[in-house]
Amino acid sequence: MTNLERERCKALAVEIGDFVTLTPAVFRAFCETEREIFVPFSNHAYKLDAQPISDDQWISSPLTVAKMTLALECENVDNILEIGCGSGYQAAILSKLAHRIFSVERIQNLANEAKKRFEILNIKNIHVRFDDGNFGLKSYAPYDRILLSAATNEVPKTLFNQLKIGGILVAPVGQNKQFITKFIKHSDENIEKIVLDECLFVPLLSGRA
Ligand code: SAH
Repeated sequence: MTNLERERCKALAVEIGDFVTLTPAVFRAFCETEREIFVPFSNHAYKLDAQPISDDQWISSPLTVAKMTLALECENVDNILEIGCGSGYQAAILSKLAHRIFSVERIQNLANEAKKRFEILNIKNIHVRFDDGNFGLKSYAPYDRILLSAATNEVPKTLFNQLKIGGILVAPVGQNKQFITKFIKHSDENIEKIVLDECLFVPLLSGRA
């Protein structure tokens, strides 16, 4: 990272901090992740907006990424599953906080582009899988945390089955209005649901594109 990029990332982290209280580790993760590499228009990279990427998909607003990341409470956990890798920015932020990240994407082109970005950035703890995330990623389950980066009316049961007891799942839930929703799996039968901020994500679709 050049000094200029470093300063821009830090300014972004400070700006996000005007809206939500970042933990020191999450603040650092934003400082260390060059958003420019993930967006199509680098002059917009450090604005608090969502942006279109390829294949009709969107890279989330950095403020939304921050809210999802904070809700996930994932500092130092072993493994996280993300559904909807997209540009890979959210996964890159998570890679600075937890040990291993598994990110599933149903559009092959996006999965490949995200992989290339992680190589350029020398990020080695993200594993990208081209597949339908409705089924999770069984081979590495169970997970400490699961993050859905696409909106659904109902979180697929399979995903809760791949979450450890005591684990947290965060997802944008709802149809007309979506809310960042946090689920804590106290036991197989007892899953606590906490509704947080309103948000806007593209829908969780079925099947590989
Ligand atoms: N986390 C991303 C935001 C991605 S937008 C980022 O930081 O850029 C949501 C993504 O979810 C899209 O790329 C879309 O293709 C993907 N998606 C939607 N339904 C999916 C499914 N069933 N399985 C895997 N990915 C899915």
